[in-house]
This record gives sequence, C-alpha cells and structure tokens, in this order.
Amino acid sequence: MKFERYGIGILKGMTVTIRHLFRHPTVNQYPEQRLNVSRRLRGNELIWNRERCTGCATCAKACPQGAIELVTATNLKDNKYDVTTYRVDTGYCIQCGLCVEACPYNALFMGYSYERAKYRRGDVVQTNDELLESAERPASGYYHPEIAEKLPRQTLLVERITEKRKRK
Ligand code: SF4
Ligand code: SF4
Repeated sequence: MKFERYGIGILKGMTVTIRHLFRHPTVNQYPEQRLNVSRRLRGNELIWNRERCTGCATCAKACPQGAIELVTATNLKDNKYDVTTYRVDTGYCIQCGLCVEACPYNALFMGYSYERAKYRRGDVVQTNDELLESAERPASGYYHPEIAEKLPRQTLLVERITEKRKRK
C-alpha cells in the first residue's frame, strides 16, 4: 500500500510550486521598494506635543506597561503644572495605543515611522525633546482622523496585482 503512494507527495508539492511560478509576486523588494503603510499605523515611537500637554498623567495611568514616566512642577504664576520630564521607555511599550486614546488634550500620538530600531537598550528610552514631532518622526493617524486624512493612502499589494492583471 505504501509502495503505491510513493512519489505522490512530491508530485503534489511540485504542482503547487509550478502553479506559483505563474502567479504575480505578492512581495516587495524592501528596502529598494517601499509601500505606503497604514495611515493608522502604531509605529515605533510615541510623539508628544509639549505645548498641549498639561501634565495630567492620564497617559501614564492608562499604560499597562508602566512605560511612561512624568515629572511635573507647580507653576504658581500661571496656575498650572509644568512638565519637567516626560519619558517613555519604548523598550517596554507594546504599541497598544491606550495612552494616545486616554490623553484628554490631544497631546500624544502614535508614531508613523517603522524604521526606528535602535542598537542599544539605553537609546530606546526617550525623554522630552526626543519625543517631539519631526520630519523623521511624523505622527500617525491612529485615533486622530484629522491627521490620517493628510497622510498618503496605504498601498495594498492586492490592488497592485489586480492592476497588473487589468493591464494584460
Ligand atoms: S502604546 Fe501602550 S504600552 Fe506603549 S506607552 Fe502607550 S499605553 Fe504604554
Ligand atoms: S494624558 Fe496627555 S496631557 Fe496628560 S500628561 Fe499625558 S500627554 Fe500630557
């Protein structure tokens, strides 16, 4: 019985391989070719808006990882808190987005970048200015549709394949 089935598995495997040879590729040659990621990407790093932040610490309380540390000083002159230290240990961050959703003052955003990996453990702890928005660290549209609508539309590989088929 076993003798009769000999080679059937190899034949089946070869059939699948040959079928895929004639299909359109569904991969990209990264990093030479890059796709637009989701507008609501929860990227590598948080983006903090110092001007809007009131130091309420709602974000730190919402973080299940305890990744956000906040130090404030009382500003009696202006009757408010000054944030002296805002620190995020992105090594502990799981990109859940709960802190962004919890911030009542729209002062916190998920990052839109996905190539911000670091070589050293110490570099993933970011404080104050390192958390501000910049060209390398744009904010994501996650939980912020007003930002999402300004970002480029996500490239979907399935749409590329359909376009190629239409052109044929
Ligand atoms: S994204 Fe989640 S884990 Fe990361 S700092 Fe915010 S609440 Fe904490
Ligand atoms: S919840 Fe928002 S306003 Fe409050 S401390 Fe965090 S970032 Fe600042």
